[in-house]
Amino acid sequence: MYVMNTYSRLPVSFVRGDGVYLFDREGKKYLDLVAGIAVNTLGYNDPDLLNAVCEQSQRLMHISNLFENPWQEEVAKMLVERFWTEGRVFFCNSGTEANEAGIKLVRRYFREKGENRYRIITFYNGFHGRTYGSMSATAQEKVHKGFEPLLDGFDYAVYNSFDSLLKALRKDTAAIMLEVVQGEGGIRVANYEFLQKVQQLCHSEGLLLVVDEVQTGVGRTGKFFAYEHFDLKPDIVTLAKGLGGGFPIGAVIARKSVSEVFSTGSHGSTFGGNPLACACAKVVISKVSELLDHVMDTGAYFKRGLERLKTGKVRGLGLMLGLDLERDCSAIVKKALDHGLVINCTAGTVLRFVPPLIIQKDHINIALALLERVLKL
Ligand code: PLP
Repeated sequence: MYVMNTYSRLPVSFVRGDGVYLFDREGKKYLDLVAGIAVNTLGYNDPDLLNAVCEQSQRLMHISNLFENPWQEEVAKMLVERFWTEGRVFFCNSGTEANEAGIKLVRRYFREKGENRYRIITFYNGFHGRTYGSMSATAQEKVHKGFEPLLDGFDYAVYNSFDSLLKALRKDTAAIMLEVVQGEGGIRVANYEFLQKVQQLCHSEGLLLVVDEVQTGVGRTGKFFAYEHFDLKPDIVTLAKGLGGGFPIGAVIARKSVSEVFSTGSHGSTFGGNPLACACAKVVISKVSELLDHVMDTGAYFKRGLERLKTGKVRGLGLMLGLDLERDCSAIVKKALDHGLVINCTAGTVLRFVPPLIIQKDHINIALALLERVLKL
């Protein structure tokens, strides 16, 4: 009634969660394969995360970035230790903000070098967010509709097509920005050779490589950063979603020499990296780091199970999987909900599975049996 009509909401009202399960008002139990869209990495009621929220909120939830923030230093150190080289971190609150910061870093990097390069190549079916920079980086007409004019400086290429990328390249191109698995675009995995060529092109043309890990990052694909599967060495990586395990926090990590173009006052955020958000991220990063083999193993098990259903193409990495039914899948999501299974439909025809990373094989067996039943209805 009072909330703007931007979402198509399913007719269920969840009131609590536990592990990989959600419960509605009537006490009905649902196995959750959405996890707040790749957010609730540790599931619901993780004792360490709860403890961190309780302890930190009793001490200090928020201080301005006007003051020292040791919580940010700690989380930044943990992230940089997992990054492929020396880097620095800027904290914000969401994926779109992390990408805005990434875009601003790109532009300022070349400005400081005295080069007139500012254009960024992104890919069709990609998704980078809803604010003007990130929306303009998103090569999907439905996201732009009615909001034009967009921010200038983005050229779009076909994902996994090096020829198309070369066609989009201009003398004022500054960077290439991509997801290594397109999440909102239908769980489309980049191919290894394509990404290697992208990286070589970045080196030969002096372009920055920006990897949007908002959905793929923080262990979702079985590596801490999904770019590790492809042996990439990105200049800038953006994170959000799973980083806070349910508490909003975003981050951009940049190679040191790139990060240095942000000087005092050049960028900021009131809430970015507040003590409570950082207390959550600290728990998530350390626990997820112990779960990576589990994600690989359960992800491969889940993938094999989906393939055995023989109902569509299965794509994805780790616990970021898609089943492309090549037909509208929104009705299936509703039927699954009736059967106590929470799944999501993305890109119109793809069932997306991004469960909490703590999911066990027993849960996957239950999910597959429910799914098989629902797909036959
Ligand atoms: N980038 C990617 C790859 C995403 O999947 C999303 C959200 O789905 C975003 C950016 C935007 O994140 P947020 O909704 O937190 O702004």
